[in-house]
Amino acid sequence: MYISVCYDRHMIRLFHRFLEFLFPRRCLGCKKSGTFLCRACLEAIPTHKTQHCPVCLRESLLGKICETCSGWTLDGLFVVAPYSQKSLLQTCIKTMKYGAAHSLCRILGAWMANHWTPIDLSDDILIVPVPLYPLREKSRGYNQAELLARQVGQPQHLIRRIRNTVPQAQLSRKDRLENLKNSFDISSKRDLLNKKIILVDDVCSTGATLNECARVLRAAGARKIWGLVLARG
Ligand SMILES: [Zn+2]
Ligand SMILES: [Zn+2]
Repeated sequence: MYISVCYDRHMIRLFHRFLEFLFPRRCLGCKKSGTFLCRACLEAIPTHKTQHCPVCLRESLLGKICETCSGWTLDGLFVVAPYSQKSLLQTCIKTMKYGAAHSLCRILGAWMANHWTPIDLSDDILIVPVPLYPLREKSRGYNQAELLARQVGQPQHLIRRIRNTVPQAQLSRKDRLENLKNSFDISSKRDLLNKKIILVDDVCSTGATLNECARVLRAAGARKIWGLVLARG
C-alpha cells in the first residue's frame, strides 16, 4: 500500500514536470520567461509592516491575540502580506494550489521565511504544515502548506486530517466551525508537552482551520501555537 502511494506520487510529480516542460515557466507578474515569479515582481509585492490581532484587528506584536479577545486556542497569527482581489499575490496563491508549481511554492516559502524572523528557530520550535486530507493530497501530488513550511524549517507531521471536509470558502462562519469539528487528530507519538508550534498554511480566512489544528495540539500539551500564513483572504 505504502509503495503504491509513493509510486503514484512519483508519477504525479513526473507528470507535473512534464507539464512544466511543455509549458515553460513565465513570471506571473511581468511574463519574463524562466521562473514563475521573478525577483523584481516578488520584491514589489507589498507586505504588512505591522501585525494585528486576527480577532479584533487591533495592531499587536507579531499578531498576538489580545487578552480581551477570547474563544481562540491559537495564540497569534502572523500574516505576511495583504490580500487583494486580482493582485499578483492572489494569482500566485491560486497557481500554487492548482497549477502544480513546486518552484513557485519554494519561492513563496522562502519569502514567507524571510518575513517571519521574530523567533530563533533553534529555540525548540516545531514547524507544522496544515495537513490536507490524504486523498486530496494524493490527487494534487503535494500539499502546498508543506512545501511552504519546508522553507521555514524542517516540517513536522504532528497532525493529520481525518475527515475530508467541504472546502471552507463555500461556508458561513458557523458552518465552517461545524465542518471542521473533529477533522484533525494527532498523528505522532512525539511528546508535545510545553512545545512551541508554528502552524504554516498558504492562506486563511476566518482562521477556523488554524484554530482547530491548535485545539488538537493544545489538547496534546503544546504551550504556544502561532499561525503563519502568506495572506488572509
Ligand atoms: Zn516578473
Ligand atoms: Zn483582539
